[in-house]
Amino acid sequence: MSHGPIHHPSHDILLCHAAGRLSAGSALVVATHLAVCPHCRAVTRMGEGVGGVLLLEEAPANMAPDALDRALARLDMPATTPRPASAVPELGPGLPMPRPLHDVVHGPWRWVAPGISRIRLDLAGAIPGERVYLLRVAPGSTLPEHGHRGQELTCVLAGRFRDSTGTYAQGDVAEMDAGHEHQPIAEPGEACISLIVTQGRLRMHGLLARVLQPLLGV
Ligand SMILES: [Zn+2]
Repeated sequence: MSHGPIHHPSHDILLCHAAGRLSAGSALVVATHLAVCPHCRAVTRMGEGVGGVLLLEEAPANMAPDALDRALARLDMPATTPRPASAVPELGPGLPMPRPLHDVVHGPWRWVAPGISRIRLDLAGAIPGERVYLLRVAPGSTLPEHGHRGQELTCVLAGRFRDSTGTYAQGDVAEMDAGHEHQPIAEPGEACISLIVTQGRLRMHGLLARVLQPLLGV
């Protein structure tokens, strides 16, 4: 990457991540950003430190007599085997899949509309109404204008897109809350590939957008 990300998740999101309070989908988007953002890794580590201090200040809990043995036994258990690199699909020609996505993207890309394709991710622990997917938008293509009923987090993996809030390049995170309206456009050059998590159905505007909504699955 030629530069670090410019758009970062809010501190609220980073601290919730540090505390393990994010949904599986949101945590995946944040982890994908953290992999390329030393600034947010530092904020998250600070949040983890604060969380640890708060835990220490809590009254000691009564533990089962065998709790220590069980915790030690878990340390001896083999870690889950990572997926072999050859089994991880590429994001695109010559584009490696970001490490946090290695075990959750099984592909293939599915056509949604001219210039738009998608890979749906099924995450263990996703909350009801949460949708997690990779979206590939051809250069210059426009997504339907839409609003949000819940939070939407997007991390750009390749290419760039812009909307009324700014221009987002590789590693950048766009955070949209209920009430936000936007119409992302993929910048010219290479296809824009993003990891997106949405909570709640999107509010699509216009007939074409409403026709596309079931295809996008959002
Ligand atoms: Zn960051």
